[in-house]
Amino acid sequence: MDLQTIALHGGYTKDSQGTMAVPIYQTTAYEFRDVQHAADLFSLKELGNIYTRLNNPTTDVFEKRFAMLEGGEAALATSSGMSAIFFAIANAAEAGDNIVCAKQLYGGSLTLNTHTLKRFGIEARYFDVHDMASLESLIDDKTKVIFFESLTNPSIDVADIEAISAIADKYGILSVVDNTVATPVICRPFEHGADITVHSASKYTTGQGLAIGGILVERKGLVEKLRANPRYEHFNKPDASYHGLVYVDTNLPPYTLRARLSLARDLGAVLSPFNSWLFIQGMETLSLR
Ligand SMILES: *Cc1c(COP(=O)(O)O)cnc(C)c1O
Repeated sequence: MDLQTIALHGGYTKDSQGTMAVPIYQTTAYEFRDVQHAADLFSLKELGNIYTRLNNPTTDVFEKRFAMLEGGEAALATSSGMSAIFFAIANAAEAGDNIVCAKQLYGGSLTLNTHTLKRFGIEARYFDVHDMASLESLIDDKTKVIFFESLTNPSIDVADIEAISAIADKYGILSVVDNTVATPVICRPFEHGADITVHSASKYTTGQGLAIGGILVERKGLVEKLRANPRYEHFNKPDASYHGLVYVDTNLPPYTLRARLSLARDLGAVLSPFNSWLFIQGMETLSLR
């Protein structure tokens, strides 16, 4: 599908009313047919709506449509760009780990990485986005993420996504690209080897300045990078907080699945259905703008 067609129709199969436009499902909860249905939904034997902190049909369209635009496999919408970045990092790193970040970053990301993540025991190490040698020298076996922006805000430095992703691949580390400024219309980081993208939807995605929101997208086939990778044991071992689920064995995109089932569930920084709907309207004109 052409990008402009995706922006108008991607990810929406008509609901039972046959509505052409995506409806706003302004609801917190959903009916379970019976106890077995509820059990099957929670154990992922059947996929469906559980509670709007975990999923919502309007937000689902925004996530699917955005993932298609980006050429990714799956997405998770969040309440802001900052929460998307925090989820992308916290999904990979924990206390005692480090992340390697470009020093040319959005100010909020600099304070998150330098000060707030430090309070969670995660160390940020900075490289110059134009100096691959400085990047490689910062990596060790506790490095869980290489984080940078495709077009940096505000200096508009252009990152060499291919070169940075190649270093990430060499060490089996996840590359996370903030693609807010470029948007999928101008740059599609997965085509250049990136693993995960994050966006502030509050900027060009809405285009109208109406809502704060964010989104995290996972590339196709990321499961193979995570499977049996000693850096990411928590994707390969049973998750005690989710009935012993092993994320790489679910046949579902594991990065967004864990971010949803663990981080969105416990931290709750999810997008409201109304704001998802506003972003869906904004995306329609993204390629024109
Ligand atoms: C604005 C921005 C963010 C933060 O997004 P919010 O939606 O404001 O939380 C992150 N990264 C970049 C590049 C931004 O421009």
